[in-house]
Amino acid sequence: MPLLPSLAGLTAGEAALMLAPLPRFRAAQITGWIKKGAASFADMKNLPTPLREDLARRFSVYGSTVSAAHSDPDGTIKLQVTLGDGLKIEAVLLVDAAGRKTACLSTQAGCAMACAFCKTGSLPFRRNLTSGEIIEQFFHLRRAAGEHLSNIVIMGMGEPLLNLDELVKALRFFTAREGCGLSPRRITVSTSGIARGIRALAGEALHVRLAFSLAAADESLRVRLMPATKQNPLAEVKDALHYYQQQEKHRITLELVLLGGVNTRVEDAAALAGFVDGLDAAVNLIPWNPVPGMCLDGAPLREPEAAEILRFREELEKRGIAVTRRRRRGRGVNGACGQLGVTE
Ligand code: SAH
Ligand code: SF4
Repeated sequence: MPLLPSLAGLTAGEAALMLAPLPRFRAAQITGWIKKGAASFADMKNLPTPLREDLARRFSVYGSTVSAAHSDPDGTIKLQVTLGDGLKIEAVLLVDAAGRKTACLSTQAGCAMACAFCKTGSLPFRRNLTSGEIIEQFFHLRRAAGEHLSNIVIMGMGEPLLNLDELVKALRFFTAREGCGLSPRRITVSTSGIARGIRALAGEALHVRLAFSLAAADESLRVRLMPATKQNPLAEVKDALHYYQQQEKHRITLELVLLGGVNTRVEDAAALAGFVDGLDAAVNLIPWNPVPGMCLDGAPLREPEAAEILRFREELEKRGIAVTRRRRRGRGVNGACGQLGVTE
């Protein structure tokens, strides 16, 4: 069956263009229903039945479908989403201690960056997602949650800044009043450190928050953990972060995945202090979520011990670095950071 053009992810103005010569108020009704959670044209009760039937023949509400859902007792929900061409990706709903609900969205099917500790990185890169496919994940999660989602983190599968155009379109939709109307301060884009992409994102003046996945501030260790460091040396990334900060004036988050016995030594804390110097940044410690079979130079990776995390944190705080620690969420459904990866 040929794929029908989908409407989720369009503003009323964009939908009006696609649905012409249908009057604009009809387009606004349709996008209004999608925003309220309608999954089919049949749900759009204030449209005349013949119009609903005609729309269903020519368009689809969604271009992607939820093909599996897993819930963790901590509130996390992981959705497997099948795209129009059959590729599968994952999107995750996270609930924090205050009950705030955050959508964690993917931007690529697979990831080309091949970070040694990340399940997504062990998959082949398939393709960039379209803005519609990014936005639809948010709607799918919202329907699964049954209520409003207050925050978005672009921390699912893929490197968002290597899919900048579609990412920017999706972010504009999320923040537009006509779209989801979310404050950009409630949206965080996480990057493995694409210097050009960070500058380009700053140029878009979207005012979203930025997180940089540092992993290690020592260049040679970081190259082993995140091989793409070779194309984006840390000094260049730091310059780009400076630039972002000058433009956006937000505190930047440095995400530090903690790998037992690998990047938690005193010298790692010292190197990190050097990197943070001159930036307004807070370090977010993320104890590694296990992925079976992952190795560094032939040795299996392991979770850091509780005492090891504590010691490392103290070493950072001694150096005046602001530290937060991410609570573990979603491990029961393999939906935690770095555990996303649909295999089939
Ligand atoms: N590609 C982007 C966004 C997705 S990864 C990026 O790398 O920033 C989101 C975060 O999860 C990154 O900070 C990454 O370092 C971290 N991560 C990856 N694998 C992990 C794992 N197995 N356990 C804990 N964190 C992991
Ligand atoms: Fe890609 Fe991010 Fe995973 Fe690295 S950590 S492989 S950049 S998704």
